[in-house]
Amino acid sequence: EAGPGPAWPSKCPWGAPKAAPMSCSLADVMSEQLAKELQLEEESAAFPEAAAVAEGPFITGENIDTSSDLMLAQMLQMEFDREYDAQLRREEKKFNGDSKVSISFENYRKVHPFDSDSSEDEVDWQDTRHDPYRADKPTTTPKKGFIGKGKDITTKHDEVVCGRKNTARMENFAPEFQVGDGIGMDLKLSNQVFNALKQHAYSEERRSARLHEKKEHSTAEKAVDPKTRLLLYKMVNSGMLETITGCISTGKESVVFHAYGGKSTNEEDKVIPPECAIKVFKTTLNEFKNRDKYIKDDYRFKDRFSKLNPRKIIRMWAEKEMHNLTRMQNAGIPCPQVVILKKHVLVMSFIGQDQAPAPKLKDVKLSSEDMKKAYYQVLNMMQQLYKECNLVHADLSEYNMLWHEGKVWLIDVSQSVEPTHPHGLEFLFRDCRNVSQFFQKGGVTEALNERELFNAVSNLNITADNEVDFQAEIEALEKMNEDHVQKHGKKVSMFPSDGDPP
Ligand code: ADP
Ligand code: MN
Repeated sequence: EAGPGPAWPSKCPWGAPKAAPMSCSLADVMSEQLAKELQLEEESAAFPEAAAVAEGPFITGENIDTSSDLMLAQMLQMEFDREYDAQLRREEKKFNGDSKVSISFENYRKVHPFDSDSSEDEVDWQDTRHDPYRADKPTTTPKKGFIGKGKDITTKHDEVVCGRKNTARMENFAPEFQVGDGIGMDLKLSNQVFNALKQHAYSEERRSARLHEKKEHSTAEKAVDPKTRLLLYKMVNSGMLETITGCISTGKESVVFHAYGGKSTNEEDKVIPPECAIKVFKTTLNEFKNRDKYIKDDYRFKDRFSKLNPRKIIRMWAEKEMHNLTRMQNAGIPCPQVVILKKHVLVMSFIGQDQAPAPKLKDVKLSSEDMKKAYYQVLNMMQQLYKECNLVHADLSEYNMLWHEGKVWLIDVSQSVEPTHPHGLEFLFRDCRNVSQFFQKGGVTEALNERELFNAVSNLNITADNEVDFQAEIEALEKMNEDHVQKHGKKVSMFPSDGDPP
């Protein structure tokens, strides 16, 4: 149809339902055909790439239904929205100029602020090369509860301080909960207002979780959301990955895919392994709530934790896994090698061959000789992890150890913490219990019991001869360390000075 609008096709490029055939004159048919031809020409001129994308391989691998029209439409829409917002920001800037009073176009934006992928929102490989290994010492809050002298004294109950703190805490509410743009305005909320808001935020959160549940379950099959697919698509498109062949594992917190590696996108990067595992940390926030305790008390992430929205916290899990794997790699512990981190997607080398992942220790039947070998290897790796990497796995068991090329490989280290983590020693004890029990049941008579193993790994020489007392001593040590941190602003070393392996 000729009109004043842009030469935009009135038809959707993905095709439209066939119109029921109507009887009409030959002349009508002829002109309709002509119109269709003209339109097709126009379409292919206007959308050369779109047509190519629709036909070409999307994410290769026949069994992944990613070439769906809906998917493509959503991704294009996402790109469009982003461009639209960028344009809007330019217009807003131009409109306001140097004026002291400005008008915000915020409400006209397409992308939800918490969904946006603006660069400042990005926790990416580029930003996180630096391992916060020996990060700045944890800050101390004076135990006495006040700062300053004489009339300049400020207690923790100070109204202004308290109000500001409350305002800052508000940012920890669920992302769906709009708290307004008080940031930068030095708002001071009273405790009463804060508590009322908090209550409301929680009930809102529960309500919206119920609403979202239906939506999420319907897409649970596909396991990854459009944004993640776009990320994966870009990795294939850039040639970094050859093909993504399929899903290896779907857990509560992550989905793992197998892929064939492609070519490195820039020269300085290391070569991409022929087979890769892609771990996608689920952006469904609910599952991660119970993992707070690992990261919240990890001082490496302390400063950032309070400022982040839950989406960023999930990226932090991926980041943690990357840093921990890198440390392990440097110590020579058999584990996947990091290829790249993009937001909540971690690409690493694949442990296994020809798309078949190496079996977990719990699934493999080892000869008693191999079992004994595996035990000593695990004991050694636990010591290395503790001493050389300054890490406690914190989820070590036969489920997270793979048997490949005649040795044990450690995986799944996103929750690993440093031994000085407030619960680090408890996590270590739990790891020791799992390992001891597994190998003792597996018939390794030499296997140390969990308490002996704990001492062998940590060199702490806790003498209690029963579980309860042992646990109590561990907790007392942790408490001592925390008190020390409070007083002196630094961690006590939990390493014995001699470097000899026991
Ligand atoms: P989760 O937190 O879901 O347990 P994992 O990192 O343990 O995540 O991965 C889940 C499963 O995926 C593992 O049990 C293992 O079978 C497989 N897997 C993960 N990473 C790799 C890898 N690099 N190579 C081969 N298989 C892997
Ligand atoms: Mn696991």
